[in-house]
Amino acid sequence: MKKKMNYKAPRGTHDILSTDALGMSFLELKAREIFKKHGFEEIRTPLFEDAALFMHSIGRTTDIVEKEMYTFEDKKGRKLALRPEGTASLVRAFIEHRMDTIIPSGKFFYMGEMFRYERPQSGRYRQFHQIGAEFFGNQSPVADAEIIILVQDLLFAAGIDEIDIRINSLGCKKCRPSFRETLIEYFSSLENLCKDCLKRLKKNPLRLFDCKIDSLKFVKAPKILNYICTSCKNNFYTLQTLLKSVNCSYNVDETLVRGLDYYTQTVFEICSKKNGAYGTVIAAGGRYDNLVKELGGQDIPAVGFALGSQRVLSIIDEHKLLNNFGTPERIFIAVIDQELFNEAFSFAVKISRYGLNNNKNISVFGPKNEKNLTNQLKYAEKIKASKVLVFAKNEFKNGKLLIKDMNNRTQTENFIDEL
Ligand SMILES: [Zn+2]
Ligand SMILES: [Zn+2]
Repeated sequence: MKKKMNYKAPRGTHDILSTDALGMSFLELKAREIFKKHGFEEIRTPLFEDAALFMHSIGRTTDIVEKEMYTFEDKKGRKLALRPEGTASLVRAFIEHRMDTIIPSGKFFYMGEMFRYERPQSGRYRQFHQIGAEFFGNQSPVADAEIIILVQDLLFAAGIDEIDIRINSLGCKKCRPSFRETLIEYFSSLENLCKDCLKRLKKNPLRLFDCKIDSLKFVKAPKILNYICTSCKNNFYTLQTLLKSVNCSYNVDETLVRGLDYYTQTVFEICSKKNGAYGTVIAAGGRYDNLVKELGGQDIPAVGFALGSQRVLSIIDEHKLLNNFGTPERIFIAVIDQELFNEAFSFAVKISRYGLNNNKNISVFGPKNEKNLTNQLKYAEKIKASKVLVFAKNEFKNGKLLIKDMNNRTQTENFIDEL
């Protein structure tokens, strides 16, 4: 006896079907349009990299590297990891292809799958899609503003306008260490911190702000914006002036730290304000001026963002989106006299090519290996064809085809050449 197949998609992964797949394409199409307008070029990096790359860039003590990375050894014992995010890979490629030696450096985008071993919950997957961009070689907050505005434009284009943009500055190499000391001193004075907080206190005190258990105890914590240096302060101020100049509304959130080690100065998060998805982070990013150098490249500043495609799609209005994208008109090719089958087939190929070359939104079905016309029409109805083009001997002799309009049930004759 044959065994029944009983396979399922691995835990935390999902198949993207039908309107979700269409939604994903729509989002990526919109993103490509917007990236092009801002002068960003695409880079496609491998799905896996040397595991050390992520440890070195994202940080050994971050949740991503400590708990969530898919690491494995290949047959030669190389320690590899499925990419948990896009920036590290992009910076690696940027340096490897010596793009860090070209001035001005450039703007790049990526889109594709990322992998994190997280506890699956609604909207969170172990294999998920991100769209992101990195802007290299521009030290000025103008670049930060451009990135934030670009993400906002992308979300607007996807039909998401109820958003909350939160920004903060994490200071630089010069001013962050003293704030770190102040924070350690402050947190050490508190009692009954949770296990995670005690661990983070030694390695990465900024991350305590992310604690969901203790965050209420931190209302009197020292505020980073009071500790950053004049140049960091000026940059943060300039960024806000630029955002205001284009009526981009934002909130300053001094507890926003982001979970990755490489950020310097500007960090930001964009959350949904939509009912039912309030507070969901849909995009985030920031400046990372030391990472290129730390990974072996030139001293090149950079700023970037990443957006979770599934998060965006989960709050998007699907009807609006499909209207935007346009549902193709379905055309079915039917054959009454079977000796015309080859003509019908080559005609089907011709009109789908015509659609392709003239940017017509049509899908062509048939001819079908089915002699009975009634069955062919039943099929056309099932696939929701709006028109059926019928190949019949008598009409074909005169260079004509029958056209059945499935919506108003009318039938006309047309010359093939005119179609
Ligand atoms: Zn500073
Ligand atoms: Zn805690």
